[in-house]
Amino acid sequence: MARRNHTLAQLKESYLFEEIAKRKARFPQDQLLNLGIGDTTQPLSAPVISALQEAAAKLGCATTYTGYENAFGRTLLREAISQKIYHGKISPEEIFISDGSKCDLARLQQLFHPECMVAMQDPSYPAYVGATKISGKERIIFLSCTPENQFAPDLSELPQIDLFYLCSPNNPTGHVMDHEELKSYISIAQKNGAIIVFDSAYASFIGDPSLPRSIYEIEGSKGVALEMGSFSKMSGFTGVRLGWLVVPKELYFQDGTSVREDWMKISATCFNGASNLAQAGGLAALSEEGMKTSRNITEYYMENAHLLKRSLHLPTYGGKNAPYLWVDLGGKSSWEVFEQLLCDYKIVTTPGVGFGAQGEGFLRLSAFAQREHVEQALHYLQRL
Ligand SMILES: *Cc1c(COP(=O)(O)O)cnc(C)c1O
Repeated sequence: MARRNHTLAQLKESYLFEEIAKRKARFPQDQLLNLGIGDTTQPLSAPVISALQEAAAKLGCATTYTGYENAFGRTLLREAISQKIYHGKISPEEIFISDGSKCDLARLQQLFHPECMVAMQDPSYPAYVGATKISGKERIIFLSCTPENQFAPDLSELPQIDLFYLCSPNNPTGHVMDHEELKSYISIAQKNGAIIVFDSAYASFIGDPSLPRSIYEIEGSKGVALEMGSFSKMSGFTGVRLGWLVVPKELYFQDGTSVREDWMKISATCFNGASNLAQAGGLAALSEEGMKTSRNITEYYMENAHLLKRSLHLPTYGGKNAPYLWVDLGGKSSWEVFEQLLCDYKIVTTPGVGFGAQGEGFLRLSAFAQREHVEQALHYLQRL
């Protein structure tokens, strides 16, 4: 008899969004104001659309048709990411193109021993816990990130950690780490011989030039960190699917073997390369014109964040250099206020408790909403 992966019984990964969908479904007649979206809403830029059309046309012609590509990604795209995102500080051979960060997160579990001690921020993106548990790692430490500690947990009392997940700008709190904070994690990782998985999905929302957009801006990080990058929020590729993983050449396991070499084995075994269409689109997104359009769209979202932040009377964190706002409900429960906003004003939000125990008492508001929804919702949110 086939035995179930017993860790699946502990997973509540889809609970949050299913529960929200169920509660929304009670109002089929109403136009809901959706501030709960963790997805992009603005259309793709013109250069990306042309590149996708052109790539599709090539596939329809016998002389230009192509099939499988390099499993690690197109050289041109790896070079473009090296130049445009990392200003040449990360070499193209250290950049592995993927079908998105969530997929990388699942695959990279296989790099690590199941007995690894894993640390992650609480609250955090639910897939970190999910992917960790599915892969059989059961030793997880949650680092409380709350307004009381300025979302920067005290690291001095930590036991031996092998693997850290860090996300900055953070989903859901909108907290952005500065150089000092990132440095403190890097020195802990160096002391522990740990590896940091740094999620930079929202790096393009950082407007303040003094804040790090990549962990590799901090000295010594190439010896301790992997970085996940994604076109999803940067260029509206949530449906197109394209991302990358940086695996530096100087990153080694405790036994002295190369993480990058093992990553190549895993990629070659579990992945056949990102879609040729998505990669053509990604190259266009990194062109000058593509990047300019993406910046305009990011500014549109950040104007939403600014409108929300300015109008709320409740203590609100994030929303600066990050597309999420984290609202402190002053002791009320996340689901209670979620329900009140939905029933009374038809506003959809995301209950903070869905991102971890420390998220109880908070709501996440998303700047990915349509401007009209933000403007209408503001009238009501001001009364909170
Ligand atoms: C949206 C998001 C991603 C991007 O995931 P993809 O699979 O690349 O779409 C990664 N990390 C976090 C925290 C996110 O919110």
